[in-house]
Order: sequence, then structure tokens, then C-alpha cells
Amino acid sequence: MSKEITSREQDYSQWYNDLVIKGGLADYSAVRGCMVIKPYGYSLWENMRDALDRKFKDTGHVNAYFPLFVPKSLFEAEEKNAEGFAKECAVVTHYRLKSDPEAKGKLVVDPEARLEEELVVRPTSEAIIWNTYKGWIQSYRDLPILVNQWANVVRWEMRTRLFLRTAEFLWQEGHTAHATKNEAVAEAEQMLHVYADFVENWMALPVIRGIKTESERFAGAEDTYCIEALMQDGKALQAGTSHFLGQNFAKAFDVKFSDKENKLDYVWATSWGVSTRLIGALVMAHSDDDGLILPPKIAPMQVVIVPIYKGEEQKANIDVKVKEIVQSLKSMGISVKYDDSDNQRPGWKFAQYEMQGVPVRIAIGARDLENNVAEVARRDTKEKKSYSLDGLAESVKNLLDDIQLNIYNKALAYRDEHITPADSWDEFVKLLEEKGGFISAHWDGTAETEEKIKELTKATIRCIPINNPQENGTCILTGKPSTQRVLFAKAY
Ligand code: AMP
Repeated sequence: MSKEITSREQDYSQWYNDLVIKGGLADYSAVRGCMVIKPYGYSLWENMRDALDRKFKDTGHVNAYFPLFVPKSLFEAEEKNAEGFAKECAVVTHYRLKSDPEAKGKLVVDPEARLEEELVVRPTSEAIIWNTYKGWIQSYRDLPILVNQWANVVRWEMRTRLFLRTAEFLWQEGHTAHATKNEAVAEAEQMLHVYADFVENWMALPVIRGIKTESERFAGAEDTYCIEALMQDGKALQAGTSHFLGQNFAKAFDVKFSDKENKLDYVWATSWGVSTRLIGALVMAHSDDDGLILPPKIAPMQVVIVPIYKGEEQKANIDVKVKEIVQSLKSMGISVKYDDSDNQRPGWKFAQYEMQGVPVRIAIGARDLENNVAEVARRDTKEKKSYSLDGLAESVKNLLDDIQLNIYNKALAYRDEHITPADSWDEFVKLLEEKGGFISAHWDGTAETEEKIKELTKATIRCIPINNPQENGTCILTGKPSTQRVLFAKAY
């Protein structure tokens, strides 16, 4: 089974596609740039979604739902946002098809059913939401509004990759409204930390928390906070963003509130989102040439049990014991599958579950039963050990915790080894070509230099880390003075 996967060394990008498709996460579809998320992948998304949703609710947010379509006039209202997304918008112009008079069985757009106003399929929902907030907000008593939406969005991306960049994707988008600037900034920062905490502690993926430069900022934002992760090929991936939107959307949609002194002011805003891209991050950061490696905390199936037997009698004895084990695992909140299907051999099943990244595999044979043991294999290191059946569930629980930690530590060690300072242009270029990862270098702070570096090397400024130490130096490209290093990388 594992032989069917292209190795990372051979072709990293094909390896990734193989894992997504053969690991059962997603499938290509008939729609350009859009994918089918298969049940196993969707179950992973559900686990991620549920954990995030709990965190949002713990920080005072509530869920709501807004329309998929945004009338063009609303979409245009915040100019920078509109301009930034214009090139990626799918637009609905008609609302009806009719039979093609010239070709039987075919349909054509009914020219008489042209919409008076075109509808933009939301690439992000600030416009429709702020148009709604106008009716919700009159006074400081109506604030803050802390709303999140779980939805799909469409961005007509030209170069798509399964999960990492698709034309339609699933995400959540938080949209909050506040009475003061400080409160809005604090919200944007809080959500950055919520994301970082989720990605690190649930997805076992270390991230750098930072702020985007002006040219990488979300269209319509005053500041974009981001978390950046590193993939095993040394490329960075933006894993989540949280935007301080200032009063831009309030001004565009005329959303004012009267404060305690009855003075009118525009409302302050934030928005923040993570998407199904996180699944791509997970795959790229942890997996190996035998398949997926999923962090136990979000794995759709944490444990699989495979019986090894000859004949019905042995099988019946194993079944009885496994039933007990399944019970005790479930009572500890551990998800487990007993795969006693008889249409595949154990070796085939082992490879299959390895491919799918199931964190722990338990194999039990007739001899094991006699000895009161089971063979337990962990997916991350592929280490196998014999465990006593007494207290097995407890041991498995500890093992799952250990795997979660080990995956994180491995990714952290790789990430930390791949943050390298560069102090000259030659060194910078050499590092990018030979080592990859984040390169910490001085930059003169101008968009022109940033653009020039991108043109020359394809590396972009991923972020200015938060709490970045101040250090005098000279720009890697222009030699102009700089007060801090920023992180460059080639990115997905
Ligand atoms: P944004 O609204 O542009 O700040 O994006 C919010 C989140 O969605 C970020 O975490 C992005 O990494 C992610 N994202 C942006 N574009 C795509 C896409 N085409 N496919 C999947 N995820 C995306």
C-alpha cells in the first residue's frame, strides 16, 4: 500500500496530493478548483470545527448565519475591500435557465431573467454583515457584537491546491463590533491567540504569531495579525488571520452609535478566519512517506483494533475481549474502531490505517489472549510494543497524549532549526535556495523593497513577529537603515 505514495524526496507536491486522495480526505470534482471533502476528511474538519467553536464560545462569541449572495452595490461600499477581492469574485447575473430552442435537451440562460443588480458570491462577508449591523447598532448598549459564522466562501483562485487553496472553501469568519478602538484591537489580538492556541495544542503545529506588512494586509484592514506555520519542505503557510478593521466598514455602511455622553461615533470592527486550509497544513507538517500522521486530539479515529485469528473459535474469543477493551476506551472518551471485516488480511489493514494516520493500532491474536497482552503500534514513530490487557485503556490514553506531544515537539524542532538569520544579500539568497524555512533579516520598511525581493527570490515577508526585539541594522537588499528583523519565506 505505502508503495503507492510518492516519497517526499521524489516529489513533495505529488506526495501531498497522494496523501490527501489516498488517505481518503478529499477527491477532485467536476468543478475547476473545487474539491469534494470525503467523510474521513470531513470528520477531521468536524473535530477541528468543534474544538474551535468551543473556544469561540468560551470567549463570548455566538454563531449566526448571513446570505451567500452580496448585492454588488453593498460589495462596492468599502472600496479597498472591494478592489482587493474584485479579481476573485464569482458573480450571479441571471436567475433562470430555459430550454435551448436550437438544441433539444440543452439549457441556456434566459436573457429575460437578468438580475437588476448582480449578486457577488461572498468571498468574505464584511459587506453583507456590516450592512446588517447598521440596523442592530444604535447605542453603546448594543455593543459589543461578537458574532461568528461557519460558512463556505468562493474566491476564484487561478492556481488551486487541495485544501490549501481552493475556489470554494469552508471556513469560519468572526465579525465583531466595538465601541472603542482599544477594545477592537484587543479582540483582534485575542483571536490571534485563540487560533495559535488551537493550532499548537490541537493540531500539534507550532506557529509564529505576527503582524502582516501593509502590502500583505487584508483588503480593508488597518492591521492584519497572522499565524504562520512551516511545512516539511521549508515553505511557510499562513494558517489564520485576524484583522483590526478600524472604522472602515462602519464608515462605508454608516454604522454609528451614541456613547454614554450621547456623542455619535463610528463603530470599531474586527474580522478573523481560519479555513479548511488548516487540513492541508496538518497533512504537510506531520505526515511521512507511509501516509498521514494525525494528532490524536483531532483524529477522526484515535484507535483501531485488528484481530488476528484462525477459525471461528479464536475469533469469538478475541471478540469477547475486544468488546471489553472498546467499552473501556469509549468510557475514557477515546474513539475506536474494531475492524473485524474478513475481506482483507491484517497486513493490508495495517497499511491502510497507517495511510490514514490512525494514531494507535492494536493487534490481538489468539496467543496474545493467552498471555493477556496486545501488540500496540504508534503511528508517529511506528514503534510496536506489547502491552498488558490489564489497564490497557489507561495505557492507550497515555500513549495518545505522548503521541500528541511528540508530533508537536518534532514539528517545533524542525521549525526552530529553520529560522535562520541572514545578514547579507548573498547569504539570504543562498539560504532560500539551499535551506528554506524562515529567514530573519533586516528590511527598510518600504513596499518597493518588499516587492523587489519577492520578484527576485519569490520570498515574501510572512510577518513581523509580535513582541519583535528592536535591533539596528541595514536592509538586506538596499542597505538602508532598519530597526528590526522580519521573517521572510517562500510560502504556499
Ligand atoms: P482572509 O479572509 O484572506 O484573511 O483569509 C482567512 C483565512 O482563510 C486565512 O487563514 C487563509 O489562510 C484562508 N484562505 C484564504 N484563501 C483561501 C483559499 N483559497 N482556500 C483555502 N483557504 C484560504
